Amino acid sequence: MERMASTLPFQEMTAEPDFLFDVQVKRLHEYKRQLLLILYVIMLYNRLVENPDQDLMPRTFIFSGKAAPGYILAKQVLRLIHNVAETIAGHPVVSKKIKVVFLPDYCVSLAETIIPAADVSEQISLAGTEASGTGNMKLMLNGALTVGTMDGANVEIYDEVGPDNIFIFGLRSEDVARRRPTYSPWEVYFGDQEIQDVLDTIRQNAFSVLTPGVFEPIVRTLLDEGDYYMLLADLRDYADTQERVAALYRDRREWSRRALLNVARAGKFSSDRTIAEYARQIWHLDPVSVSPDDASE
Ligand SMILES: *Cc1c(COP(=O)(O)O)cnc(C)c1O
Repeated sequence: MERMASTLPFQEMTAEPDFLFDVQVKRLHEYKRQLLLILYVIMLYNRLVENPDQDLMPRTFIFSGKAAPGYILAKQVLRLIHNVAETIAGHPVVSKKIKVVFLPDYCVSLAETIIPAADVSEQISLAGTEASGTGNMKLMLNGALTVGTMDGANVEIYDEVGPDNIFIFGLRSEDVARRRPTYSPWEVYFGDQEIQDVLDTIRQNAFSVLTPGVFEPIVRTLLDEGDYYMLLADLRDYADTQERVAALYRDRREWSRRALLNVARAGKFSSDRTIAEYARQIWHLDPVSVSPDDASE
């Protein structure tokens, strides 16, 4: 049988170079909170549907990442990303301002094409859950501005670039510990109309017209099962922070200045520095010279 177009790995699409490229590429996991970004995309979708004339900074949201085969909730998040992408692409107004793409088969070769194109680096894990992260460093080194929580190596990036050159939001790890015992996602739901609308849009099958109820497990995780990764607790601050991102991006000169500062201050994350530090502090090794002069002795 002849190969069909559908066997190609990528669905053809054009990226608008003027749109802000907002990138979240990493393994699919609840703690990394790809779902938080897609909830924000749904919030933007709702805003545009309600008010088609609003002056929204156009963005392309680029996702990539693999889910472990048996990780059902991660696969459901993948499905939600795909369905939101499709719904937006089919909407006459929203599709002019927002694009959502999911590139399959995330790997180093794909990372090499996505990361240099990124304007925004999404590093939005719940504080206290990410050991370090390395994607955050790769994106910084390639001139992306980080939108992130105070988690893993985002904290070191913050220390290097300072508060003006990174967008920090959300609970700190101490806040997570303090808030968790009394945390009620329903309280957030009833206390924030826009967040309520986001969840109701999913519940009312706006992204699952042909498969009603398919996203019920996601909604249940967020509302009935306690929202362990506290997405709803961080969503308001995240959305407001993304507004600041959009406003800054309109000032291309200032945006570029801050992007360059990120590149310039990425030296800390060199592997030479890291390995030297390990050798000294962890392995207690003395350096051995391997210069050509020594070799000839
Ligand atoms: C860098 C990289 C990762 C790790 O990304 P994090 O954002 O640190 O989780 C995973 N997969 C690939 C292919 C990478 O290049």
